[in-house]
Amino acid sequence: MKVFNSMTRQKEELVPLREGEIRMYCCGPTVYNFIHVGNARPIILFDVLRRYLEYVGYQVTFVQNFTDVDDKIINRSHEEGISSQEVAEKYIAEYFTDAQGLGVRPATIHPKATETMDDIIDMVKTLVDKGYAYEANGDVYYRTRKFADYGKLSGKNIDDLESGARVEVNDVKEDPLDFALWKAAKPGEPAWDSPWGPGRPGWHIECSAMSRRYLGQTIDIHCGGQDLTFPHHENEIAQSEAANGCKFVNYWMHNGFLNIDNKKMSKSEGNFFTVRDAAAVYGYEAIRFFMLSAHYRSPLNYSKASLEQSQAALSRLYTAEENLSFLAENAPERDPSEAEAALLASLPDYRQRFREAMDDDLNTGEAIGVLFELVRAVNAAVADPCRTVAKEGLAMLHEFTDVLGLLYNKQQEKDLDAEIEEMIAARQAARKAKNFAEADRIRDELKARGIVLEDTPQGVKWRRA
Ligand code: AMP
Ligand code: ZN
Repeated sequence: MKVFNSMTRQKEELVPLREGEIRMYCCGPTVYNFIHVGNARPIILFDVLRRYLEYVGYQVTFVQNFTDVDDKIINRSHEEGISSQEVAEKYIAEYFTDAQGLGVRPATIHPKATETMDDIIDMVKTLVDKGYAYEANGDVYYRTRKFADYGKLSGKNIDDLESGARVEVNDVKEDPLDFALWKAAKPGEPAWDSPWGPGRPGWHIECSAMSRRYLGQTIDIHCGGQDLTFPHHENEIAQSEAANGCKFVNYWMHNGFLNIDNKKMSKSEGNFFTVRDAAAVYGYEAIRFFMLSAHYRSPLNYSKASLEQSQAALSRLYTAEENLSFLAENAPERDPSEAEAALLASLPDYRQRFREAMDDDLNTGEAIGVLFELVRAVNAAVADPCRTVAKEGLAMLHEFTDVLGLLYNKQQEKDLDAEIEEMIAARQAARKAKNFAEADRIRDELKARGIVLEDTPQGVKWRRA
């Protein structure tokens, strides 16, 4: 398999460090809010990478962290009047609800910063001992200029960075480029004991420490969104390579942005939809399909039209699956006809083309193309097929959809439809009881979920807007 390595800026053959094994790390969410559709892009794509690596026979150890101590979490805890641990726990649970909805398997290990504190402190200590870091008023900073290769991932020049760096008043740093590894405790903030007094870790050191703890000093793949390249991943490299004295990551993989009106979807810009809200309108699985329809490094624009196209494509896949499942149980058990024999003989070619697409830097769009070609070929053959064709066609369909993580959610879609129908029935009942306030409230809630109601002589019809 070839993957595009952001470090070398080219596609490279993926050669694991240990035969038959892949160790990969993906930067996970800061848990202070619901995830938005942009956050779902790396989560879904790197889940597919992991599934594909397993499919071709690797044993994959996949680590994805939770940043559970951070300024945003602390702010949120003040807003909500609960502890930052409670904020983190709440949004970790919400993360798993969405991830499961999206068909994303839990990672092998989901470490939390607050549970890896000894490793974090240990790594900061090593950096101080080696002269790569220094303490100042209870904070610890990384001496960025001391790391000769700084900027190698993002292609930034340290002198350009220096001239653009903001010098803050009362700065205790030796150099504006230095970044915090450890932050001295402030009143009302969670804190841990350390050789530099009570405090909490900076964001970047977490990933270096967790990656080393669970995967070792050098790992195969490190992934995340493109916006993490600088400064987050650049700083991770500086920390890990200085502390460990060896290469940190063999392959860096970054997904492109999910945009909305051609601008990056982001919490700070306010131009986002949470996965929860989008799933209420389109279903979780349509979001997954939509993400897989484009190459992970290309920008992808979120729109109603493309989500609806994904819903329609998905529903064609479900129809094919249903037909084939029925035929696999009920079609006559006769010898294949000549045309059927030819189709059976061609099935391995579909597998080969599917694999070629995935081997080419995880080209999921093309892999989905092969999947639909398979569906069309089998459909053309199965007006009245023999059972073997139906069974083998279905097995191949499932082989592909298992790698892509599709066709898992029929029940979930049905549940969503049932919920909407229940709400409509409740609205009818409220109207009958002349409780118009309640009827209007339900109508508004349905509207907010993108459901359009139409009163007809035969009753209320509904559709997704
Ligand atoms: P954040 O919560 O901003 O730290 O992001 C969590 C993960 O989602 C990181 O891997 C980001 O790179 C990724 N991410 C955030 N916004 C987008 C977006 N609009 N498109 C693609 N990935 C994103
Ligand atoms: Zn990270």
